[in-house]
Amino acid sequence: MPEAAPARRSGNRQSAIQLAPMEVPKSSDVLAGELRERILNGEFAEGSALPPEREIVVQTQMSRATVREALRILEVQGLVRIKTGRAGGAFVQRPGKESVAGSVSLLIRGQQIRFSSLLETREAIEPYCAKLAAVNRTDDDLVALEAANAALDEVNGNLAAFLQANVDWHVAVATASRNELLAGFMASLSRAIYTATENERFVDAEVRRLTARAHRSITKAIRAQDPDAAVRRMNRHVHSYAAAVLKIEERTEIAVPGSE
Ligand SMILES: [Zn+2]
Repeated sequence: MPEAAPARRSGNRQSAIQLAPMEVPKSSDVLAGELRERILNGEFAEGSALPPEREIVVQTQMSRATVREALRILEVQGLVRIKTGRAGGAFVQRPGKESVAGSVSLLIRGQQIRFSSLLETREAIEPYCAKLAAVNRTDDDLVALEAANAALDEVNGNLAAFLQANVDWHVAVATASRNELLAGFMASLSRAIYTATENERFVDAEVRRLTARAHRSITKAIRAQDPDAAVRRMNRHVHSYAAAVLKIEERTEIAVPGSE
């Protein structure tokens, strides 16, 4: 026992240099990050093909599994589209407004955002969308708005048809703002609002009548390129809709189904 003690001490000798556990990034994340940067900064043009998998393996000297995983990450992020078959490969795509919608939907579902937060967000952004729409709308935007108005007139008590026409009109206003962020954001909010208000009690005949009337008067202001009237009427519309819905039911969570 006495002889063994010195050896054990030297084996456990503490150095003055202290190291902490290190986080090493996964090689697939590093490769995906590199490719992502070059896609986002425009170095790889939209629609162009990335080199074939085996070519990326040779160029980067990473394993085939790493390369495959990196491409899968980019695919999930909507930055490449993987096509199979003879003319297949990974094709570059720039993120569109669907990617905003997807992220916001995930946020809403993941954080179980309160319904009132969703409505407050609409009240914050939709009047400004209407204002920009009055300034920037094109003739095609007016066609889309009128189509949604016509659809709303033909609902005949069908809840799903009402909600869809309602959502289509609000998204059309945001699209007419010509601001891609607002348009993408509204598209995702509308999806959540559709689901959260999918309830006959929210949408009675009176709500439908008032909605159709408000949409028509806002459309008129957008057509007339009157930003002040557009912002004022949209403000009143989203606010009164929120008040009506909240009065009918105090909900604490939004349920957005998993299928998009
Ligand atoms: Zn509406």
